[in-house]
Amino acid sequence: MTDESFLEVTDVSKWYGDEQVLHDVSFEMDRGDVTVLIGPSGSGKSTMLRCVNRLAEAQEGSIRLDGEDVLAPSTDVDDLRREVGMVFQGFNLFAHLSAVGNVALGPQRVLGLSKAEARDRATDQLERVGLGNQLDSYPAELSGGQQQRVGTARALAMEPKLMLFDEPTSALDPELIGEVLEVMHDLVEAGMTMLVVTHEMSFARAVADEIVFLDAGRVVERGPPEQLFENPEKERTDRFLDRIA
Ligand code: ADP
Ligand code: MG
Repeated sequence: MTDESFLEVTDVSKWYGDEQVLHDVSFEMDRGDVTVLIGPSGSGKSTMLRCVNRLAEAQEGSIRLDGEDVLAPSTDVDDLRREVGMVFQGFNLFAHLSAVGNVALGPQRVLGLSKAEARDRATDQLERVGLGNQLDSYPAELSGGQQQRVGTARALAMEPKLMLFDEPTSALDPELIGEVLEVMHDLVEAGMTMLVVTHEMSFARAVADEIVFLDAGRVVERGPPEQLFENPEKERTDRFLDRIA
C-alpha cells in the first residue's frame, strides 16, 4: 500500500452519550504536512484531535497512522502516544519540577534513557524552543509563553512522528502569542508533521498545506488556505471567516 497517506482519517464518527459530536469526518495528511482544523467552539476540533491519540475513542470509521490501524483494539495506546506528541491550551507542567525536569521526565520514565541522557535530550529541546537560559526555572517563574514552549519541548523530547496542537496560544496574553507561533513555525520548517487547531488565521494561512473547516462535527469544506480563505465554496465557511477576521 505505497499510495497510503501518512495519516488517514476516514469517516470518523463519535458520540458522547446520545450526542453525535463527529459525523463521518475524513481528511488525510502526508508526512511533513501541516493541517489546520478551524471551526466554531463546540464543533468537534478537540475531539477529532483526541481521537488521533486515543484520548477519545471514535466509535466508527478508521484512523491510520503510518500504516498502523490506530483504532484497532490491539493497538498499544502507550506506544501510540509516544509517537504522537500533543500540546494543549493549558500548560500542564509539573509545578515541582524545573523546565529541564519536566522535559526529561518522559525520556527517562517512558523511553528508559539514563538520567544524564534524558537531561541532555531535554536541554537540546529547550534550546530548540529558545529556553536554553531557563533550564532550571520552575513553571511559576516562567511566563505563559515560556511555559507553553516548555510543553512543546516536552512533546518533542519523545521524538514524535506527528504533533497535535490544540489551541496552543488561546490561553496566552496577546504579547506572548508570537513566541509560541515562532516555535511552531520553526517546527514546520524542520519538516514536522503537524495537525493544529488554532484561531490564528495568519499563521494558518502562512504554514498550512490544508485547512479543514469543521462545523457541528462535520467537515464543511477543506482545501489549501488560498482557496479556503480567498474563495470558499460554502456560504457557511464564508460566514465563519467573516466573523473571526
Ligand atoms: P471544539 O474543540 O471544537 O470546541 P469539542 O471537541 O471540545 O469542540 O466538543 C465537541 C462537542 O462534544 C461539544 O458539544 C462538547 O460539549 C462535547 N464534548 C466534548 N468533550 C466531551 C466529554 N468529555 N463529554 C461529553 N461531551 C463532550
Ligand atoms: Mg477545543
